[in-house]
Amino acid sequence: MTLKLGFHVSISGGICNSIVNATNIGCTSFQIFSRNPRQWKAKNLEEEEALQFKQGLRQCRIDLDSVAVHMPYLPNLSAPASDMYDKSVSTLTEEIIRCNTLEIPYLVIHLGSHLGKGEKNGISQLVNACQKSIQAYEKIGLSRNKVKLLLENSAGQKNSIGSKIEEIQHILQLLGTSDYGVCLDTCHLFAAGYDLSNEDGIYNFLEHVNNTIGMQNLKLIHLNDSKGDLGSHLDRHYHIGLGKIGELGFKILINDNKIKHIPLIMETPIDSIRGDKENLEFVRRFIK
Ligand SMILES: [Zn+2]
Ligand SMILES: [Zn+2]
Repeated sequence: MTLKLGFHVSISGGICNSIVNATNIGCTSFQIFSRNPRQWKAKNLEEEEALQFKQGLRQCRIDLDSVAVHMPYLPNLSAPASDMYDKSVSTLTEEIIRCNTLEIPYLVIHLGSHLGKGEKNGISQLVNACQKSIQAYEKIGLSRNKVKLLLENSAGQKNSIGSKIEEIQHILQLLGTSDYGVCLDTCHLFAAGYDLSNEDGIYNFLEHVNNTIGMQNLKLIHLNDSKGDLGSHLDRHYHIGLGKIGELGFKILINDNKIKHIPLIMETPIDSIRGDKENLEFVRRFIK
């Protein structure tokens, strides 16, 4: 079985370019931003552009269920009631609609920061944001493809929501419908204290995931090594095998049968040490 293995790729010059970028590197899965991730305002998605994208996707050899959109950086869905919170909810709604237009099945969301108001308040704001956005999306009557929101774990920076698997499980329970799934980032997991650098650590972790959120809810993995130490709460991605998780951890993880069907997306740096192609080659060499 071929692993679904790819990268977060650029949409620079138009959203269709992402498919070219992904296939040029040899991806069998990929992730994009649907717009500039550092701005609140997004250019409208032209119908022609969306059509071309969908056509391109059907023609390339990448499965539709291996493609994801990542939310832009500015929204904070756990923020206390404020203008910025309202803008965050609107952005989430827009992004769900854009995924629908592009027929992309997954939207990865960061769970945000409670900004000192406490975890309980943050989670209740987050749940409200997700429910409001899904309702707004359903009201428009777009039902061709049902977009799933994937809750991404955090590295556990100050005030952040979702660095513990149990917390994500709790949020899934509060949301309570099948509109949601989970995306786990290996760098964030390691930084949050889950040791993925050895066989025992990985075995225990996957057991834990299965006993809490359930393997069936794990829809995507962000495959990144960690520049920071175990439990450092640092969100600093590094080249696969060259960070603190290390070669052994990734060798064991990507060959584990429990996750073989899940798309793996790398968000690794591009620098003088390695580019995307080199990280992909490196990982491919591990696959048994
Ligand atoms: Zn992310
Ligand atoms: Zn990260």
